Amino acid sequence: MDVFGLIGNPVGHSLSPPMHEAAYDELGLDARYVTFEPAPDDLESAIRGAEALGVRGLNVTIPFKRDVLEFVEPDELAGRIGAANTIDFSGAEPTGHNTDAAGALRALRDHGVALEGADALVVGAGGAGRAISFGLADAGAAVTIANRTASTARELAAEVPGADGRGLEDLAEAVTDADVLVNATSVGMEEDATPVPAEALHGELAVLDAVYRPLETRLLRDAAAAGATTVDGAWMLLYQGVEAFELWTDRTAPVDEMNEALRSRL
Ligand code: NAP
Repeated sequence: MDVFGLIGNPVGHSLSPPMHEAAYDELGLDARYVTFEPAPDDLESAIRGAEALGVRGLNVTIPFKRDVLEFVEPDELAGRIGAANTIDFSGAEPTGHNTDAAGALRALRDHGVALEGADALVVGAGGAGRAISFGLADAGAAVTIANRTASTARELAAEVPGADGRGLEDLAEAVTDADVLVNATSVGMEEDATPVPAEALHGELAVLDAVYRPLETRLLRDAAAAGATTVDGAWMLLYQGVEAFELWTDRTAPVDEMNEALRSRL
């Protein structure tokens, strides 16, 4: 049996096990997806142990996405982002990949959003903001990164080709000019709040909210009311999992079944 899994702390509420196991069931693969919760100091021994035990692949979540790069060989994109959410053990040494970036791009494209030449505004410059900003720039978008801590946005923008970095003040003007808006902050998760003033949203905009609990955030409600195209965070979660599945198995993922397994639990 092939073993895949997720390493993080905590991982108790993860939706990845049912999503990946739906794919194994659909394709008749003899595989299981298990969650592991090592103490932060045990990260290296956990990765070495997984490798020694023949684990095929691991997803990586908070708080390990950056630290894991000390113990795996990052691919080019994960190296630029400075974080990995997927480890592949099939080679001579474990490799690190970042499927959050591709997950966000696939979520947008799946909803008919054109990225090449688009003006994209990414709100948030943490782990998700970093991955999505690099991904959008690679896809040919002109990226503006807005973050509560403006210095973090400016530092990230200096690494992302052609990007501008700024604080959250006067966000309305930046939203007016944008074709694509991504919320990569945690705002909207704990409370019915939005990082973007509703009045600034418009019908020419496509809005991806990385937050997926709740599925319908205040930002997405406001965006729908303004006539914008809306993409919820479960699409990004789905496609980061699809990308990891395809990397590990070399099979085309059964996207509909994975999506159903995910959404039925949200
Ligand atoms: P993170 O690294 O901790 O970054 C958090 C970001 O949110 C930072 O930019 C932070 O700004 C900003 N922020 C936090 N509280 C804020 C507030 N009250 N007002 C304005 N900005 C605030 O977290 P992350 O890993 O990037 O995750 C961010 C969100 O994306 C989470 O909701 C997470 O669940 C979601 N996510 C979704 C997926 C998916 O597949 N759908 C994947 C990854 C992450 P400062 O720099 O100023 O602190």
